[in-house]
Amino acid sequence: QTSPGDPFGFLGLTYDDVLLLPGYSDLAPSDIDTTSRLTREISLKIPLISAAMDTVTESAMAIAMARQGGLGVLHRNLSIEDQATQVDLVKRTQTGIITNPVTIGPDATLEELDTLAGQFRISGFPVVDTDNKLIGMVTNRDLRFTPVAEWATTKVDEVMTPQPLITGPAGISRDDATLLLRKHKLERLPLIDPDGRITGLITVKDFVKSEQFPNSSKDGQGRLMVGAAIGYFGDAWQRATALIDAGVDVLVADTAHGNVRMLIDMVKRLKTDPATKDVQVIGGNVATRQGAQAFVDAGADAVKVGVGPGSICTTRVVTGVGVPQITAVYEASLACKPAGVPVIADGGLKHSGEIGKAIVAGAESVMLGSLFAGCEETPGDLVLVNGKQFKTYRGMGSMGAMSSRGKKSYSKDRYFQAEVTSDDKIVPEGIEGQVAYKGPLATVAHQLIGGLHQTMFYTGARTVPELQENGRFVRITSASLKESHPHDVQMTVEAPNYSGF
Ligand code: 5GP
Repeated sequence: QTSPGDPFGFLGLTYDDVLLLPGYSDLAPSDIDTTSRLTREISLKIPLISAAMDTVTESAMAIAMARQGGLGVLHRNLSIEDQATQVDLVKRTQTGIITNPVTIGPDATLEELDTLAGQFRISGFPVVDTDNKLIGMVTNRDLRFTPVAEWATTKVDEVMTPQPLITGPAGISRDDATLLLRKHKLERLPLIDPDGRITGLITVKDFVKSEQFPNSSKDGQGRLMVGAAIGYFGDAWQRATALIDAGVDVLVADTAHGNVRMLIDMVKRLKTDPATKDVQVIGGNVATRQGAQAFVDAGADAVKVGVGPGSICTTRVVTGVGVPQITAVYEASLACKPAGVPVIADGGLKHSGEIGKAIVAGAESVMLGSLFAGCEETPGDLVLVNGKQFKTYRGMGSMGAMSSRGKKSYSKDRYFQAEVTSDDKIVPEGIEGQVAYKGPLATVAHQLIGGLHQTMFYTGARTVPELQENGRFVRITSASLKESHPHDVQMTVEAPNYSGF
């Protein structure tokens, strides 16, 4: 049954209510391909997205996610400027060729150079004249031979390595660039057009890294891909355009209740305005077929599903509203599939096995908060409790994220509370907590994708579309759920993908 016939006739199911049926398989591990669509136009090698939360995704996490082949969505509990800077940090990372390198003028002081190096976390700059023509290179090493006391008065052109430098032409191939770097033992290779203007910069470090991450999610120019969250209230349009100017690949409408006229209009405007229509836009969050249909009709490139399944979320208990996640994903897919719009299952995943369940229910990717919050690359420090390491994880609708405690909150409109000015009037829909520290994202993602590989092996699916097409559920009881988890033994050693919670 796909729509409520009578007030109580509609049974919703979630991850723990179902298992996937095993199916005939003649696959070798190398046959399995986890590539999946994130949006109408973007595919990812691994269908994982890190949540737009201030304890999960800032630039370091977004970089790590894109390198693994997934995507990070930068949270929006930041000023517009800070969020755009985060986009910029991701777009400048790795990839081999930096297409829009940060430059410096010859008259800048070493003090200014040092500030710029810190701000962008880079160590070498092309020095350009007012016409953007390359006149030299300056690196951190050039700073070292000038006493700090003289940095305020020493100019860049006194310490830089001036032209003639070894340069490459704009549009140089990877192989030719490698030859030049090797032959001249260079750390950096500036790229220039026929008039001598800087067009790009290659660094050895980035070249090596881009070889280390063969699955990485890259845009047409070879830069890492990144998503960023936006709302629909107040200066949301300025935020969206600033993020686009900074090079964002995907804008993610980030609200707890996406079936809202103002947000649907915002998606429509983003997809029709000549200045914004080329960026991919994800609408969310919804949990019904009708909610998903509204985004499909508005032109969204993907629809994100989840009202209340999140580990830190109290929406269902505070408001009584929500749809169990397997049913929500299935319902949304009924509207999205005919239109060719991918569904993203957001929240509520506790183990790798739920990725395959979300896909069979109709999703093409999953968004994870708690499963990623313990990674080294998430914002926030490690906390030591009773000799064990933890990282903070909190809901974006928690008091901590919505109140002015600490710093200004930019995300209250996610929970329909943009106009609440006093902290004691906030009605939270999330809690604050902590999760066990798990080390680098690479190892966490390896376990999650390893789990999905096994799902595909057990069900006989070579690709994600095959899994979605052929996967079948069996509904289970609470006795079966008990049987599914380790039982009747005392766990003495936790597995890297199973902690017992
Ligand atoms: P998790 O993977 O931890 O189960 O869920 C993460 C998802 O929960 C996020 O992507 C977001 O959609 C949702 N979320 C984040 N913070 C809150 C909150 O405070 N309240 C509610 N209702 N949902 C939240």
